[in-house]
Amino acid sequence: MSERTVSVQDAAQVLRPPLDGLPYLRHDRAGELSLDGGALAVADGRIAGFEADAGAALQVDASGCAVVPGFVDCHTHLPFAGWRAEEYEQKVTGVPYEEISRSGGGIASSARAFAAARDEQVLAQARGLAAEMLSHGTTTFETKSGYGLGVEAELRALRLAGRLDVPQTVVSTALLAHAVPEGYDADGWLDAVEAAVLPALADMPHVRALDVFVETVAFDNEHLARVGRWAAAAGLDLRAHVEQFATHRSVPVALEHAARSVDHLSCLPPDDVGPLAAAECAAVLLPGAEFLGGERTAPGRDLADAGAICVLATDANPGTSPVFSLPVIIGLGVRRYGLSAREALLAATLNAAWTLGRSDELGSLEAGKRADFLVLDGPVESVAYRFGHNPVAAAFVAGRPVWVRPDQAWRVGGAT
Ligand SMILES: [Zn+2]
Repeated sequence: MSERTVSVQDAAQVLRPPLDGLPYLRHDRAGELSLDGGALAVADGRIAGFEADAGAALQVDASGCAVVPGFVDCHTHLPFAGWRAEEYEQKVTGVPYEEISRSGGGIASSARAFAAARDEQVLAQARGLAAEMLSHGTTTFETKSGYGLGVEAELRALRLAGRLDVPQTVVSTALLAHAVPEGYDADGWLDAVEAAVLPALADMPHVRALDVFVETVAFDNEHLARVGRWAAAAGLDLRAHVEQFATHRSVPVALEHAARSVDHLSCLPPDDVGPLAAAECAAVLLPGAEFLGGERTAPGRDLADAGAICVLATDANPGTSPVFSLPVIIGLGVRRYGLSAREALLAATLNAAWTLGRSDELGSLEAGKRADFLVLDGPVESVAYRFGHNPVAAAFVAGRPVWVRPDQAWRVGGAT
């Protein structure tokens, strides 16, 4: 009996890609994902195959369950400090954003909270949220800076992201153009970033991408192009928050700069659907922000039909989307965009892993890949249908059970 062997048996469904080695799967091919019942065997933290292993050290009873890859949340704003619940109450009761902003709300309020919190407080909050995410099946997630709003504070956020020390795989993004800090204009802030933040990223191997928020209240397409040039020069991926509140025609600019992803897209004009779908660039849909912000609905169905690399993510942040559950996001995404269960799961696994540059290792159930997987307490179709219910019976990272829901503990632990 080899070390750390696991056998997951009698699953009603096992979600598998049509071929091994796919870096992503375009959404017009999502129907090729298979859901046949069966088993999954693990040895030494990796998927060994798809037959039961009667001699495995850990036996998992997956009868009636679906076995799927661990969820990958490729767009979160961890780490941050505090919350903005009062602001949400103001927003839903009709207080205009300008007034909320004038009274000190918005990103600036999170920046003040971040500045006031000690490192250990920020890390404790982030670790608590990572544990919450794990219990909802997220085995890999992204972090972003962006609540520093000052050179030293942005560097601090990036360093703290590298110190999370959680069971999940963590990939970090430097969101260097989130809001224009007080005392700067947009160009001046980017000058400061170029002089003092970019050079420091060379010593932060956990940072894999640069990000920019293109919006009337933030940065424009010229700034997007500038961040794109930085990313290319530094060998980092370019990601961009675009077309969230209004149409700025940012997607063609992002594609010109070989963006890895464009995120939000609630106001994506129809003309930009085809070029985005044809590009090697993920369309990251954030239905939590759309729902809680009363935003327009991104053309998710059109993007999927046109063959885009679609992704669903939480956009977890204290302002517009304080949501950390990918099952909730899948439920919202399925309803808002009209996605099938296969499409939604593809968007929260393999394609999300590609967005983070990790789909060689993570994001799908294939022999040789890391054994990050979930046992769901029903068929995949019920993830969206039982909206608000946490379907994760057990979550495994590198073959180890890192979360087992108490009522499902009987399934895991039949050690031989
Ligand atoms: Zn975001």
